[in-house]
Amino acid sequence: MIRNIVILTGAGVSAESGIDTFRDAGGQGGQGLWEQHRVEDVATPEAFARDPDLVLRFYDMRRAAIQTKQPNAAHAALARLDAAWPGRLLIVTQNVDDLHERAGARRVLHMHGEHLLAWCTACDVRSPWTGPLLDRPPCPACGTRALRPDVVWFGEVPYRMDAIHAALRDADLFVSIGTSGAVYPAAGFVRLARDLGARTLELNLEASQGSRWFHESRLGPATELVPAWVDRLLAQD
Ligand code: NAD
Repeated sequence: MIRNIVILTGAGVSAESGIDTFRDAGGQGGQGLWEQHRVEDVATPEAFARDPDLVLRFYDMRRAAIQTKQPNAAHAALARLDAAWPGRLLIVTQNVDDLHERAGARRVLHMHGEHLLAWCTACDVRSPWTGPLLDRPPCPACGTRALRPDVVWFGEVPYRMDAIHAALRDADLFVSIGTSGAVYPAAGFVRLARDLGARTLELNLEASQGSRWFHESRLGPATELVPAWVDRLLAQD
């Protein structure tokens, strides 16, 4: 019987809300491009050290853009499951948008940080942030002008890995939605969950790099696959 569920989401769950995934961003041959930028130029600590204005401008643009987007039927279905599921449930998202929360989900863990938080590298406080960072505003907590996006860049350690591993240990069911299986450590969760005894299911537009590790893969758009899966799961319980 399924009691405890871990759901891993990636950029694909937000794609139909109009937020680009990595691959889509560059169009044809655009793998590794994101909004016309090479990932190494905007999403690494080295890029921030080399050209902070470029990185801050890029994230200011993304932060502004996500605030114009709306959750889609996949986010809504996961929020419905979160509200109704009596067992343990954790939505581990690689996404830095807030569409799971805006759809109403509560049990969400942002392993790669959040666009709508600014992190002060002087006092270590995270503050809600909706505006730009390019003009180096002062930290609301300490006044130092040392804010950066609270986003985990390539080469940095994802957040709350202990809590994620604990949830994976207890999981009866692990479901991966809209993620390419290319970015570790998230890409390794399926094998961990499976080794620990969970059933594993992938819902993705196309076969991902990790498809072979899942007991089952269903291919199609998240706005169709996720509500159908949630309906069936809730009907079974
Ligand atoms: P990815 O861009 O590498 O892969 C997205 C996956 O989603 C692909 O396998 C694609 O086939 C699938 N997909 C695309 N449209 C879909 C749809 N309509 N329905 C179902 N699946 C669909 O994304 P990733 O695996 O999440 O890894 C990229 C990294 O980029 C993550 O670390 C994440 O933090 C970051 N990112 C976040 C956002 C966001 O917050 N919305 C957007 C882009 C990138």
